[in-house]
Amino acid sequence: MTTSPYSILFEPVEIGPVTAKNRFYQVPHCTGSGALRPRILAGLRGSKAEGGWGVINTEYCSVHPSSDDLPYPSATLWDDRDIKAHTLTTDKIHAHGALAGVELCLGGARMANLATREVALSSGNLPNLAGNPFQTRQMDKTDIKNARRWHRDAALRAKSAGFDIAYVYATHGYLLSQFMSGKMNHRTDEYGGVLANRIRLLREVIEDTKDAVGDTMAIAVRFSAETNGGGGGDGAPIPGETEEIFGMLGELPDLWDINVSDYSLEMGLSRFVPEGALEPYVAAMKSMTSKPVVSVGRFTSPDTMVSQIKRGIMDFIGAARPSIADPFLPNKIAEGRPEDIRECIGCNICYTGDGKGVPIRCTQNPSMSEEWRRGWHPETMNKKRSDDTVLIVGAGPTGLEAAQALGKRGYNVMLAEATRELGGRVTLESQLPSLGQLARVRDYRLGQIEKLDNVEIFRESDLTAEQVFEIAPDHVAIATGATWRRDGYGANALGCITGLAGARNIYTPNDIMAGNIPQGRTIVYDDDHYYMGSVIAETLRQKGLDVTLVTPGDVLSSWGAYTMDRGRAQSRLMELGVELIVSKSLTSFDGQSAHFECNYTGRKTMRETGSMVLVTARKPNDQLYQDLIAHPSYENGAAFKSLKKIGDCDAPGIIAAATFAGHRYARELEENVDIDNPLKYDRVFSCCD
Ligand code: ADP
Ligand code: SF4
Repeated sequence: MTTSPYSILFEPVEIGPVTAKNRFYQVPHCTGSGALRPRILAGLRGSKAEGGWGVINTEYCSVHPSSDDLPYPSATLWDDRDIKAHTLTTDKIHAHGALAGVELCLGGARMANLATREVALSSGNLPNLAGNPFQTRQMDKTDIKNARRWHRDAALRAKSAGFDIAYVYATHGYLLSQFMSGKMNHRTDEYGGVLANRIRLLREVIEDTKDAVGDTMAIAVRFSAETNGGGGGDGAPIPGETEEIFGMLGELPDLWDINVSDYSLEMGLSRFVPEGALEPYVAAMKSMTSKPVVSVGRFTSPDTMVSQIKRGIMDFIGAARPSIADPFLPNKIAEGRPEDIRECIGCNICYTGDGKGVPIRCTQNPSMSEEWRRGWHPETMNKKRSDDTVLIVGAGPTGLEAAQALGKRGYNVMLAEATRELGGRVTLESQLPSLGQLARVRDYRLGQIEKLDNVEIFRESDLTAEQVFEIAPDHVAIATGATWRRDGYGANALGCITGLAGARNIYTPNDIMAGNIPQGRTIVYDDDHYYMGSVIAETLRQKGLDVTLVTPGDVLSSWGAYTMDRGRAQSRLMELGVELIVSKSLTSFDGQSAHFECNYTGRKTMRETGSMVLVTARKPNDQLYQDLIAHPSYENGAAFKSLKKIGDCDAPGIIAAATFAGHRYARELEENVDIDNPLKYDRVFSCCD
């Protein structure tokens, strides 16, 4: 690597008593598996170690049942029985020479202990910061002693489990932030009041952890840069406080992991937050300590990474999402093939796993969380079973993923696309405001296909059933996508809205993406509840229309809360002057006036509007599939060895579901998949039975 422009990224870096083999550092991130699914977790983290990451951390790891965050699945180190589960992960990390870190966590008022029913503890009787109707107990001196002991005991268990780095988690509004916060900490004893008192517990926990395990383990502190030391939703920065804290603690830990307490900035959607957004915060913190600093920025470009290191912004390239989208990112840079990096698109679908309590998935990386349970390696495909040919119809995310993955298996693949442009929905959607990074879904796959001489693309080939029979491939996959509906069918209506029948001036997102734009005053009716409604409203507002967004939901973009689309989308629409109306169901529109009914009172309202954009649900474009199976040449299935519809044309969904469907089709072609037991099931604590 000495002649590589990227060699600086592969320098070893000391962190206290341990040494990272390079500067690629997977910061703690949730997996939706945590303590619940140890084997899925070990497979996931292990693939990153194999892919070259020098440091790999757990998600937040609760140290005691009074810090229980279920249904959000954290890791746990509550007692010795947890050790074995963690060992599954640390063994896999060590097998590739990487360091394993554990993010020990005292939760305080952010955790409601819904599963354990323990009383949560904090600096005072705080309301639950996650909106649950429970307050915390104000910790007395015994509670503080106990909390310190729980953290220390968990650090000792972490050592037994083989971890190399122990975190003290002092941001994101958890217990240590609550103590540090001038707003939340009203104590009058030596743990409250002046700053030196408010950081006392943090100092003690760092010292306890160092004392317990610091001889062999590095101690990292995760810390918020933008407010008075801990953030914790404190609001306005207190000038000078961070400098004061670093004056007292700056040299105490072995590493500082710097972020900001606002998740929607720290792990901002590409729709709202650019790459490297934390740089000003991190640079300021780095200047206050001689210890190594890591932070994040959705870095996927090795040039940007090198620049961060050379300019002294940080010592490690921290990553959560780029390591999810491409566990093999470091190896690809080391091997001089950065063009193979599967770049994160900043959609935050990965984050929905935590909010929903299920294993995380990734739009770009269909093998995420499937490494163990389906045995999918993020880079290596199973070898083909025969010399059969495969025709894939439709080059959206489903078809492109299926084609590149089948090509890597070794099959001869024909990919037919009706239009000149490839990419289907991601190409169309990437032209909407702020969604440009969706194009990476297409570009990565096209880049891979270009390297394969056994995959041929046929553009402007709008295939009919007859043509498919003429081509006569062994296997056919129909990936012809879906189209937004014009009849009002959606999650709320669960049927067509009869009052729309025959109405003029009804538009759908497909119309808007095709450049067919209404004029004057319009209503966007959002019964989809994710990003499309707000993006369409933004598009039309930017074109100068007078826009009202109406949704039958109680909030705008309710599902967008899981990806952090919701809050920022609402702010943006309000700033743009889009009127928002919630809890109203559309009952009719005649081309001039729209009628709504309140979901709670049934009260009817009317609005004059020249047009209506319906963002409700999509209909599969499965006509070709239906034509094929109805055709005499199909011979009751004898015409092909297999025929399948996949992706949006099978069941319309998110883009991550499309890439998953395409990948799954490729993985399973000619394999004997047991449809009754398609995947291994990671039973809770089964590894410890
Ligand atoms: P998905 O998300 O499942 O990939 P998309 O809607 O993004 O679905 O992509 C479907 C693609 O299929 C589009 O690019 C569309 O032009 C193409 N397509 C639809 N019907 C045909 C057809 N009969 N022949 C070839 N391509 C088709
Ligand atoms: Fe990036 Fe989206 Fe994958 Fe998350 S789900 S890692 S944001 S591409």
